[in-house]
Amino acid sequence: MEAIKIFCPATIANVSCGFDVLGLCLDSVGDEMYFEKRAEKGVVIKEITGADLPLEVEKNVAGVAALALLEKLQPDFGIEITIHKKIKAGSGIGSSAASAAGAVYGINAICGYPLTNKELIYYAMQGEALASGAPHADNVAPALLGGFAFIRSYEPMDIIEIKAPSELYATVIHPQIELRTMDARSVLKKSVSLQTAIRQCGNLGGLMSGIFLSDYDLIGRSLQDEFVEPMRSLLIPNFDRLKQVALENGALGSGISGAGPSMFALCKGKENAQRVALAMREVVADADYANEIHVCAINPNGVKELR
Ligand code: ADP
Repeated sequence: MEAIKIFCPATIANVSCGFDVLGLCLDSVGDEMYFEKRAEKGVVIKEITGADLPLEVEKNVAGVAALALLEKLQPDFGIEITIHKKIKAGSGIGSSAASAAGAVYGINAICGYPLTNKELIYYAMQGEALASGAPHADNVAPALLGGFAFIRSYEPMDIIEIKAPSELYATVIHPQIELRTMDARSVLKKSVSLQTAIRQCGNLGGLMSGIFLSDYDLIGRSLQDEFVEPMRSLLIPNFDRLKQVALENGALGSGISGAGPSMFALCKGKENAQRVALAMREVVADADYANEIHVCAINPNGVKELR
């Protein structure tokens, strides 16, 4: 293969009670990337449209992930990457992860698919480390695998792919305010009480069971987070009101997407997700910052080739 064009999906990490261990893949929001073989070894980021991000390979998550994979694969040619950003950086819906996952998928494809998408997660995580300070998989794993991805363990890596219930939809609202991941992390408590941990384990087990059983009510009952949401939600304008209207309009549950400021609501069926989107739109109608709202099915495939 000489060249490939791919779609790199947005993702929701944490999904309320799955802080740092769970993520899901969205189907209609994402970047596009184009890869081309070049004679000279190494990687070059030729062009980025849609965002003001560095072309320097070492400063771009796509470049860092690409370098990590090329180090492993050692092809006797190089790769040129073009990135069309549609997911805004710092949105909380995995903008950096889309680039990291896309970079390793594209290079693996040009090299003849020597690694599985699951094996690519490790290399994408090296790119993510540039954006957030530590390699983490809760966005890149669902971006590469599709559906839900559950990270049971990092050492050794043990990531479980889970199909989403067929009628599950996500409504995502991205208030375009600046919320630095560092600030979103700094408000977190360093420890939680045993009682809190027990309730969180109950909810995470409930959420995973609800996903496996396609039990929408159980998913809804379980979408509760006591680790992060009570502190982090204070940084998101209208959080309580947005969550309230989502629930009043039939959402199964609602919470913070990744480190925020985006919020998500999970819904049964597209119609319900659209109703929730309209209700959220009304809440922010007078806001003095822009808000992007997406209604998405859960993407079963993750990164995919565009023809
Ligand atoms: P998100 O939660 O939306 O992924 P992050 O805070 O994880 O946002 O990542 C955004 C940070 O990563 C920004 O500081 C941005 O400049 C940096 N970055 C570097 N390369 C990229 C890229 N290719 N795409 C998105 N963000 C990038």
